[in-house]
Amino acid sequence: ADSHKASRQSLGPRMVQGSLYTYVRPEEVQLPELLGISQRAMNDLGLKVGEEASEGFKATVAGNKIYWDQDTGSGIYPWAQCYGGYQFGSWAGQLGDGRAISLFETANPLTGIRYEVQLKGAGRTPYSRFADGKAVLRSSIREFVVSEALNALGIPTTRALSLTLLPHAQVRRERLEPAAIVCRFAQSWLRIGTFDIIRARGDRTLIRKLANYLAEHVFAGWSNLPAALDQSEALSKSAVDPPRSVPEKAIQGEQPVEENRYSRLYREVVRRNALTVATWQAYAFTNGVLNTDNTSLFGLSLDFGPFAFLDNFDPSYTPNHDDNSLRYCYKSQPSIIWWNLVRLGESFAELIGAGPQVDDETFINDGVTEAFAPELIKRAETIITNAGEEYKAVFIHEYSKLMRNRLGLLSKQESDFDELFSELLDTMETLELDFNHFFRRLSSIKASDIATKDQRKHAAGCFLHAEGVTGIGNTDQSARERVGQWLEKWRVRIVGDWGEGRDEERERAMKAVNPKFIPRSWVLDEVIQRVEHGGERDVLSRIMNMSLNPFEERWDMDAEEEERWTGDVPRGNRQMMCSCSS
Ligand code: AMP
Ligand code: MG
Ligand code: MG
Repeated sequence: ADSHKASRQSLGPRMVQGSLYTYVRPEEVQLPELLGISQRAMNDLGLKVGEEASEGFKATVAGNKIYWDQDTGSGIYPWAQCYGGYQFGSWAGQLGDGRAISLFETANPLTGIRYEVQLKGAGRTPYSRFADGKAVLRSSIREFVVSEALNALGIPTTRALSLTLLPHAQVRRERLEPAAIVCRFAQSWLRIGTFDIIRARGDRTLIRKLANYLAEHVFAGWSNLPAALDQSEALSKSAVDPPRSVPEKAIQGEQPVEENRYSRLYREVVRRNALTVATWQAYAFTNGVLNTDNTSLFGLSLDFGPFAFLDNFDPSYTPNHDDNSLRYCYKSQPSIIWWNLVRLGESFAELIGAGPQVDDETFINDGVTEAFAPELIKRAETIITNAGEEYKAVFIHEYSKLMRNRLGLLSKQESDFDELFSELLDTMETLELDFNHFFRRLSSIKASDIATKDQRKHAAGCFLHAEGVTGIGNTDQSARERVGQWLEKWRVRIVGDWGEGRDEERERAMKAVNPKFIPRSWVLDEVIQRVEHGGERDVLSRIMNMSLNPFEERWDMDAEEEERWTGDVPRGNRQMMCSCSS
């Protein structure tokens, strides 16, 4: 605590050695106002309905209560993590939690899942560098909603419990703005950047310690399994269990290599991220800032700045206003995450290259910076290359599974990729069709309604925009024809899979994976305006309710608002972009 006081007084950032966190407590705030909670989050943390009304809850999520007893020296003192990162491809040095402070870990008594609970926007930390440690209401609303929306869509993500307004704190960004705190939680907040910073320090002992911690405590520990690092079963018991049959084949390719516990750990991180990116691509979610410090080791969607769901399908779309080179655009996400994972492979090189008989003797040269043996480097390179194959295999496996589900297909066919997926995506891109609306609307189409060419041309109308919204309107006959051609391919496949007369069953199955509501940028903007300038509060619980139940047909709300938020994106509001200032 004393050292943190000292660092708050000093002006510059503190460079940390030998450690990965600093104890620091949230700033006290005046009259915080709890604006919203996620009921799903309450449940997942094992909190009871109504508990959010207690003073203890409100004080905790505002940063006014910590679980440390000064007098007895018991409990847990809050901390901020240290990490580094490659930002837009360049090494950016030490970063760290500049405005996030972790309060404690807690396990849900029913599931045993352990979470680290933290506050974002809770004040300066030794890692704030020259910034203020605050978060604006605008970006806090976005993070609060999207965390819970992604989770409800089945996309691995960090979570959000609550949103608290700080009426007495104004923050200067492009203008003076109200500040807020999001209470968020995750099974792990460790990121590739955590290893980046240790590697930059040349601290080989700490790399090994953190790798052990990751395997024993993060991947295996919370499920109360024995901390058996070199039992691959232990590593496989994860919340999101990636398909294992695929990777094994991929890795038994041309370059078999002897593995050790660290290469298995590396592969686990690789597989988890492959799976997560596949879900992003299948639901057209773009993170917008996929730096290594925003890439989770647990495979979670992490750090919600200028994120967006695609409206019309535009593979080159980036939501990030400052991403001039389109490094983080939608279609680049799979390759960028792999780029980040290679940085992790480099941090892991000594561990994964050490060979199968890995023990403490192997690391006898700890702390000594010397060239690694050529055979070690060779082995590490091979393991990373093989992991790259595995990454592709898991990605394709997961992505095609999700696309098949979204299209209502039951069987797998080799030709699906070219004939159905690629052709659909090309059509969507050319005709500027709305990606997520397409799948939802497709769900309701009956096979018998698209049996003839004319019927298909007619049915195509529901996917096309009203005339004048884009260059290609719904009166364009060639557009109708093109969608119609695809519908015929799709019809053949679903009739083959389901037989005749099972449209209702298929519709139900498809609607269970094709959301009617996603928090699009323009809806979030409207909510932000209404909360910030209109003083509205209920609008937050409505968008949260929709985000938590995205597959419903109706929600308990005003029909006009519901229709607007789930309907076509208003003219001029598509593919909005966001600045990084938050
Ligand atoms: P991001 O672009 O969100 O990944 O943030 C990059 C780094 O800047 C992280 O270390 C953040 O903690 C830090 N940072 C961003 N905004 C602030 C802020 N307002 N105060 C302190 N640190 C910040
Ligand atoms: Mg970040
Ligand atoms: Mg951020």
